[in-house]
Amino acid sequence: MTNWFELETKEVLAKLKTDEGGLSPEEAVLRKTQYGSNELIDRGIKSPWAIFWEQLTGIMVVILIISAVISLVLGEYTDAIVILIIVILNAGLGFTQEYRAEQAMAALKRMSVPQVRVRRAGHIVEMPARELVPGDIVLLEAGNAIPADGRLIESANLRVQEAVLTGESEAVEKSTEAIHKETPALGDQVNMVYMGTVVTYGRGTVAITSTSMETQLGKIAEMIQSVGSEMTPLQRRLEQLGRGLAVVALGIVALVFIFGVLRGEDVRLMLMTSISMAVAAVPEGLPAVVTIALAIGAQRMLQRKALIRKLPAVETLGSVTVICSDKTGTLTQNRMTVTIVDVAGNHLDLQQQLRSFSPTVNRNEPAESVLTADSAVLITLAGGTLANDAILEPVEGAPGMYSSIGDPTEGALVIAASRAGLWKGELEASLPRVAELPFDSNRKRMSTVHKINPGPLPDVLEAFHSRFPDLFDPSQHLVFTKGAVDSLLEVCDRAWVNGKTEPIAQVWNERILNANNTMAQNGMRVLGIAFRRRESGHLDEARDPLECNLIFIGMVGMIDPARPEVKQAVAIAQTAGIRPVMITGDHPLTAMHIARELGIAGEGQQDRILTGKELAEMTVEQLEDLVEKVPVYARVSPEHKLKIVQALQAKGHIVAMTGDGVNDAPALKKADIGVAMGITGTDVSKEASDMVLIDDNFATIVSAVEEGRRIYDNIRKFVKYALTSNAGEIWVMLLAPFIGMPLPLTPVQILWVNLITDGLPGLALTMERAEPNTMRRKPYAPNENIFGRGMARDILWIGLLLGLTSLLAGYLFWRVDSASWQTITFTTLTLAQMGNALTTRSERESLFSIGLLSNKAMIGSVLLTFILQLGVIYLPFMNVAFNTVPLTITELAVSLGLSTVVFFSIELVKWIRRRMEK
Ligand code: ATP
Repeated sequence: MTNWFELETKEVLAKLKTDEGGLSPEEAVLRKTQYGSNELIDRGIKSPWAIFWEQLTGIMVVILIISAVISLVLGEYTDAIVILIIVILNAGLGFTQEYRAEQAMAALKRMSVPQVRVRRAGHIVEMPARELVPGDIVLLEAGNAIPADGRLIESANLRVQEAVLTGESEAVEKSTEAIHKETPALGDQVNMVYMGTVVTYGRGTVAITSTSMETQLGKIAEMIQSVGSEMTPLQRRLEQLGRGLAVVALGIVALVFIFGVLRGEDVRLMLMTSISMAVAAVPEGLPAVVTIALAIGAQRMLQRKALIRKLPAVETLGSVTVICSDKTGTLTQNRMTVTIVDVAGNHLDLQQQLRSFSPTVNRNEPAESVLTADSAVLITLAGGTLANDAILEPVEGAPGMYSSIGDPTEGALVIAASRAGLWKGELEASLPRVAELPFDSNRKRMSTVHKINPGPLPDVLEAFHSRFPDLFDPSQHLVFTKGAVDSLLEVCDRAWVNGKTEPIAQVWNERILNANNTMAQNGMRVLGIAFRRRESGHLDEARDPLECNLIFIGMVGMIDPARPEVKQAVAIAQTAGIRPVMITGDHPLTAMHIARELGIAGEGQQDRILTGKELAEMTVEQLEDLVEKVPVYARVSPEHKLKIVQALQAKGHIVAMTGDGVNDAPALKKADIGVAMGITGTDVSKEASDMVLIDDNFATIVSAVEEGRRIYDNIRKFVKYALTSNAGEIWVMLLAPFIGMPLPLTPVQILWVNLITDGLPGLALTMERAEPNTMRRKPYAPNENIFGRGMARDILWIGLLLGLTSLLAGYLFWRVDSASWQTITFTTLTLAQMGNALTTRSERESLFSIGLLSNKAMIGSVLLTFILQLGVIYLPFMNVAFNTVPLTITELAVSLGLSTVVFFSIELVKWIRRRMEK
């Protein structure tokens, strides 16, 4: 085994047979076959056996098996066998459905594999982490989860949090130097990075030394917490409900049995009756259907670009009352373009003064003279492109054209500088970066230190080299800082005015802030640029801090247009009783402009704004008084987001919160729905989230909410449908003795209704489209009683009606001593349930207005059930198994006719309710 930490970076690369440009694609393919996929064996997925076992140990199966045993003892062999067959069939069905649900979830999990940036054959490419092989050169930055083990070959203040491996929660500062020590502990191998740990700060490049199960994490794979399929609140409540019903049922059954026997009834008959009732009372299909509805729902959300990471989110989404959203990229397009450059005495509106204003720049065109005319504009742009991590890449198929790669804010600056002839690559050749303080959203600044190479400067710089010769003195270094103007001014003491420096007195301060505000008011993001000379090229924040005594040169304003679809999504959310709130790191005026444009603030909405500074001074309790009135938070740091979530939750809100950075993770975890960004989000934020927006779009959250509401409504419909049926069966069994009838339904018949004729239409109910008013009503409380809003009442009366109609049908024929009376009772019940399924499709609208054919699965399953029921009536072997007799056409017609009573009664009640609403 190689001790990579002992080797110099050159030796590491040689030993891995790679270089800084990375592997060639061919070599990578070879190594992939040799080393396999960079994946750990997933312990989170349930094995098929585990799923099967769960199916067989459910409470209802136990009740059924007991029933089968009793039937056996009583000598009812056909019953016993049929019950067992039904148990097995049902377990099989449950198994396939659960398995499907598990597979769907596993597929979702696979989709959340992080992407990594890898250098291959000299080019930077993005690929899924599972494609990595030893020898790959991977670029890391703050927020990345480290995808494999590797040796650091380049580091800019890289800090890594390694708690998963070492238990140490403080991030470790990494470096590239070789370590000559006998077996240092993992935590001391500071030139190595390990899979599963996360970058909290800085940047770095690593050569991958081992992948998948060969990594430190792989070796202790047992330690990885499996994601675990936690039950959703609804599932938990339904399971409790199922258990409760089972207990109650057993109680009733025991009573019926004891009283019956005491009254002198036949013990055998009483036993069979009790079994039937027990079977009737337990809602068999419930938990399985809910799991499936949720998993399939998660898949549908994926089609609408929302990737669900935790199943309970599907349910909670429908109850969201506040959506807190970032601005940049979520509400806006994150397509930044520099439109204004402002230096002392010169305010340039590029939209009007430039030849071209596209996001690409042509290498063959001369520099724009408006930009090169003013030396302050030139240093502003040079600083903006040097203190910057975006790069220019040629546009494929368009010779001479370049576009930017990296953070859009930075990209816009690189493009703007290129238009002035300040090409980033050439600038860096003369002024190479030797140290840096990366951007972070608390400081809202970024700084770089540059060495000054002796020799010629790029042409455009030559002009002011002659004017300011000592600016480029090779014995010195240059510091460039760019950042939010207010935060930049805190570290500037001079301003650059007409080629000289002047102390920033009141006047300059005011003039700069005014220019800043005017741009921000128009919705622009404004960045200021400052610089100074510095002797040392090394970073030494304790003794010689970088960001101080800077000279303010100028600022740039960039536009980032709102996403066109967001305005409508905001309106939809508001109609649905959900308040969208903007939380941004940008300037309050910029934030307000966009918020008004999108309808988040202003015009009927309150437009109170809170800044990060104000938030920092408030306690959560103080914030609670304001939090429901504030639609916009500006100049906020990620830490403040947590406070906002807490205050909203204290007010009883269900909060969805978006975030993309490392520091957003706590707020995402705390929110009811943590939403991470698929494109710009860091791995850390995704890890902490419940849902990932594949397209980073606010509108996607609103669609996911709608989907969540639909799924919840449909689950409720299914529960109502299934329990109505159970209630109907119980009424039939309970009432029959009062009119002197013998056992009207056998256990096997009841099982048939519960599992087959209820199951199929029940599943179809979960595919029902959204109710027309889904997004026009207020959100339901997440802990609302599932029987609330009239459901208990409906179950009672519809169940009673179902029971009475079936019993009436049977009674008519029993009175005249027809042998088919039991078959008729059974058939009427089944058919009435079909009508019930059709009308349950909408809580409020009539079946005829939503359209008979608008749920194909429902029509299919009703027809299929009908055919199956005919089979039970007319196939001789089914007659034996189900204790039925073939019905005459008249009998079937009576049964069918009576069964529609339930359908028409429910439709009538819905009609009356609609009338009363008007
Ligand atoms: P939002 O919260 O709306 O998504 P954001 O997350 O982009 O906005 P931050 O990234 O925290 O906000 O940026 C806050 C401020 O920091 C910006 O208004 C800008 O002035 C400044 N800023 C943003 N990016 C950079 C950068 N790369 N370098 C220097 N300053 C930056």
